[in-house]
Amino acid sequence: MCGIFGAMGNGCVADCLQGLSRLQYRGYDSAGICVKGEGLSTYKSVGKVSFLMDKIPSNANGTVAIGHTRWATHGKVSEQNCHPFVSYKGTFALVHNGIIDNSKTLTTKHLSGVTLSSQTDSEVVVHLLEKFYQGSSLTSAVKVMEILEGSYAIAFVNAKENAIYLMQHNMPLVVGVDKDNNHFVSSCIKCLPSSCTKVAVSKEDFVAKVTRNSVEFYDKNGKAIQPNWSKLTGSLLAASAPVDKGKTHMYTEILQVPTSLQNCHAHFAKCAGIGLSKVQLRHFNRIYLVGCGTAYNACVSAAVATRGLLDVDVIPVVASQFVCESYPVNNKTLALCVSQSGETADTIVAAEKLNAHGAFTYAVTNTDNSRLTFVCKESINICAGTEFSVASTKAYCCQLLMLILLLVDVSYATGNISLVEKQKVYSTAGLLPSIANNILAKQSSVMQLAKLISTSSAVYFVGRGADYPTACEGSLKLKEITYIHSEAYPSGELKHGTLALVTKGVSVVNICTHSGLVGKASATLNEVATRGAQAVSFSPYKMPVGNILHLPVVHPLFAGVTSVIPLQLLAYYTALELGRDIDMPRNLAKSVTVE
Ligand code: GLU
Repeated sequence: MCGIFGAMGNGCVADCLQGLSRLQYRGYDSAGICVKGEGLSTYKSVGKVSFLMDKIPSNANGTVAIGHTRWATHGKVSEQNCHPFVSYKGTFALVHNGIIDNSKTLTTKHLSGVTLSSQTDSEVVVHLLEKFYQGSSLTSAVKVMEILEGSYAIAFVNAKENAIYLMQHNMPLVVGVDKDNNHFVSSCIKCLPSSCTKVAVSKEDFVAKVTRNSVEFYDKNGKAIQPNWSKLTGSLLAASAPVDKGKTHMYTEILQVPTSLQNCHAHFAKCAGIGLSKVQLRHFNRIYLVGCGTAYNACVSAAVATRGLLDVDVIPVVASQFVCESYPVNNKTLALCVSQSGETADTIVAAEKLNAHGAFTYAVTNTDNSRLTFVCKESINICAGTEFSVASTKAYCCQLLMLILLLVDVSYATGNISLVEKQKVYSTAGLLPSIANNILAKQSSVMQLAKLISTSSAVYFVGRGADYPTACEGSLKLKEITYIHSEAYPSGELKHGTLALVTKGVSVVNICTHSGLVGKASATLNEVATRGAQAVSFSPYKMPVGNILHLPVVHPLFAGVTSVIPLQLLAYYTALELGRDIDMPRNLAKSVTVE
């Protein structure tokens, strides 16, 4: 959520605007930029980066530029609340991602007499920098960090210096360097320019001074520290993943599901499984699968699919709930913490709590060097490839596949399945890309179903057993990008209450991948059709009423990995039918970096 980008030297304005365009899938309430030329010039606009671009004079240039795309937390979406903010004497301009929890207290204590121009928590920081400034921007930053509470990635400029200063606590912020030694600042590794060859990441809180050709990192007390330098490959960078003209990121990414599954499977094989010894794995007596939103649905789906393969409890948990409940945790707990970006604040906080209580935390992410990989003791990459669409698709499929493969490895280590059985599962997983391709070939039929769904006042997704979490994910996709009211239920639960809402104008989407459940699914469909609702099924088997999209029969362990694909397409085509902004759905943003 929110994006920060900084560039220096000739062309810094264009570089910064391009960086913001790459970042804007992480927040698109407003965009702004500050250019340091003779003085500090700021330009701001509500909405997309393209609107900001229209406002910037073509001859705008300078030596340093910092920019921001906002996902509002404090203060409404308005130009007044758009970053960057300039300090009361005009020395500093600042952009901020995150939340300053004690902004009100700090204002009262340190800023009497200063008139704030916005309702944001962020503006306070730029005035504090001014307040504590005695000639050294770094010293001022260290003093301000001492009193800030909350989470922040901050970039600021001093009107008298050709440098960008950074302040960071619990939020992603990196420095990328290209082959000509030009330095760039970004809140997302993948949004650095594709020319970057290496990136500096710090595991701890830091302050940094970045000039065009150098960077110095300091800890929160102002003591010099060394960051971790990592090489960057093209596959990590956004610029290498353009969207086809006229297509959305979401559509492009659904089409990438087969390749992503193949890469995910190959990476698991390359890592030779979970990477923990049999002794370690036998020691665990409880496994938590922790995630939020789509990642949580993948956790539920993996837990249900692998039930019966393990004799320890596998418990899916919503990360934000885990933090405020008293789940039992000790050194016999294994926690697989799932986040596409690896920056999901709720999941990171849950992982920290698990660590504090002695659990073995294991990150399952799509991004190496992300904060979750630093917080957890081990990590594995799902290798879905960069995902820009706010509505996650290929990452969901890969998260689910990876979780199942990891849990099968645990099952083997604990003696629940034999080596032959394990290898059979792995080779079955190798068939998923071609099954996914077969499903994608049915797009035109899904498009027809989407036309029916698009006129519904509400859509209920139902499934039994392993199909229920798939129903949850189908429902989440639909509500995220179409804004149609939608909920998911285990099929058997409809008659215990929700049937009261099932009437003419409502659609019920039924997922049934298991031959043994066809009878019960048919009964549910008859019940809803009798009440006047429209029934739509996704199943390899014949259903008594309504429209159906025939799915291939898939090994029960992996049915959820592929049966979700037509539901992703259903949400996509329904949103297209309704003329929604599919890649930038209202109120949402990619990578939820605030709690
Ligand atoms: N709290 C700041 C604002 O509302 C930044 C929001 C964010 O990082 O998502 O402007």
